[in-house]
Amino acid sequence: ASSPAPVSLQAVTKIYGDQRAVDGVSFDLHPGECVALAGHNGAGKSTLIKLILGLIRADEGRVMALGHDTCSPAAAQQRRHIGYLPETVALHPSLTGIETLAFYAKLKGLPTKDNAALLSRVGIAQAAKRRVGGYSKGMRQRLALAQALLGQPRILLLDEPTTGLDPASRLLFYEILDELRSHGAAILLSTHALAELGSQADRVIVMQSGRKIADGSLGDLRRQAGLPVRIRVTL
Ligand code: ATP
Repeated sequence: ASSPAPVSLQAVTKIYGDQRAVDGVSFDLHPGECVALAGHNGAGKSTLIKLILGLIRADEGRVMALGHDTCSPAAAQQRRHIGYLPETVALHPSLTGIETLAFYAKLKGLPTKDNAALLSRVGIAQAAKRRVGGYSKGMRQRLALAQALLGQPRILLLDEPTTGLDPASRLLFYEILDELRSHGAAILLSTHALAELGSQADRVIVMQSGRKIADGSLGDLRRQAGLPVRIRVTL
């Protein structure tokens, strides 16, 4: 049998109070695939990411990551294979870059031996022994990305990854995404910058009020009638 999709959502609903933050959403992410998750504020993007991370439990349906229900004990063992870049990363100013990576690696139960190479990969090797408090914004974002790349994740979840990124860091970010895909990682990135990130992605999923209203290539979406104007102008 073929191995299961790295991520699989089956009719997933998450309810807060009387609001369906995610409403009957299904999709799979395949190895080597990069999917952009688009939608307005409150559309349900962050909630989907939290469901895949297993931080919250679905009220209906099933969320599978690397073959396990994300709320099962077995999923906890797999979490080290999931990289996550939140919209804002809390980095401790008094730790150095290399200490920061060691901290996150230990949280994930990963060895720290490749961390120097990882800092070099994101272009901040020269600052490895400097405290993060003195880093520029771009350097902090590169370090945050390195944190998400620890242990060569098989699933990478990125929340608004390029917001406020300088051009050189953005280019590096795209290069790294390509590299990960060629190693078979499945990537989900939430975005407002659909025009920019949609072209990096193999597929775009559009969310509105918790529902999936479109799922296809940028070309497919351009041909799809009935998409909200705020999404159409970004295509
Ligand atoms: P943004 O781009 O602003 O991050 P989003 O698409 O990520 O938006 P979500 O954060 O997933 O949207 O929120 C979807 C809906 O669920 C929103 O209406 C939000 O208010 C609601 N919601 C999300 N988390 C909670 C929570 N912990 N408690 C109550 N309501 C929540």
